[in-house]
Amino acid sequence: MNMGLIKVKDLIYEYIRRDEEGNVEGITTAVDDVNLDIKQGDFVAILGHNGSGKSTLAKHLNAILYPTEGTVWVDGKDTRDETHVWDIRQTAGMVFQNPDNQIIGQIVEEDVGFGPENMGVPTKEIWERVEESLKAVGMYSFRKFSPNKLSGGQKQRVSIAGVIAMHPKCIVLDEPTAMLDPMGRKEVIRAVRALNDVEQITVILITHYMEEVIYADRVYVMDKGKVTLQGTPREVFSEVERLKELRLDVPQVTLLAHELAKEGFPMPKGVLTKQEFREALDRYITERADDYADYFG
Ligand code: ADP
Ligand code: MG
Repeated sequence: MNMGLIKVKDLIYEYIRRDEEGNVEGITTAVDDVNLDIKQGDFVAILGHNGSGKSTLAKHLNAILYPTEGTVWVDGKDTRDETHVWDIRQTAGMVFQNPDNQIIGQIVEEDVGFGPENMGVPTKEIWERVEESLKAVGMYSFRKFSPNKLSGGQKQRVSIAGVIAMHPKCIVLDEPTAMLDPMGRKEVIRAVRALNDVEQITVILITHYMEEVIYADRVYVMDKGKVTLQGTPREVFSEVERLKELRLDVPQVTLLAHELAKEGFPMPKGVLTKQEFREALDRYITERADDYADYFG
């Protein structure tokens, strides 16, 4: 079967609220007809405001929740098939918002070893995996530390190492930077990019920080349970007005370029970085310099 690593087809998920007697009080359609096709090695970002359904969708990718309607396949396996639950959870590892809830070991290297140990990996290989995972997230020199001595960004990188030590094909990160300071956020995003670039691990990064998605191959923007916008980061960042409507914080440099373009200034669409902005500005100034050179003779 020629299928992506993760395929989501016509997914609908409803949370059903019941009173004490078990009568239905209300239904929230948290995921509303979502389709995704994610290939091995992709770096996919899922953006959306609070309550847009991102976490509910993420929980389907590792068989924590099951579709109300539609189907989710992970590595070709239907998540509803109970015989595959552990396979699926090992294929798609999850990292959550709060690193304090994910780290259980007293020492960093022990913590990272828990996952493979529970999987029955032989001791010698556990240590190899711990070393390789900590190196991959740049935390190897902290291996003997107590996790509570670490910053938020460092702790989150340790929890990522704990997941990759289980050798998943895919890692799903649900707002891994939401509780971190700007420095910690940068560290975590850098580590995640390296996992994708160097280790070829498929990454699904859920966030509401737009500047974290500029390196993704593909971006999906969710609103009220639906994918409302999708494309490359540049395509998505070109839709500034739409993104503002969706209450997403468009990066300052993208906003500035957009405002200048509206005033007739020759700015390309979907400027993602300061570097690109500076280049566009430089081109403009160079062209103008020639004009003025003629003028002044
Ligand atoms: P996001 O992760 O984008 O903030 P969620 O998937 O957490 O969005 O939530 C989507 C919708 O589902 C929201 O309206 C939220 O209130 C509702 N929801 C989330 N979790 C539950 C739950 N356990 N029970 C009932 N409703 C829920
Ligand atoms: Mg969430």
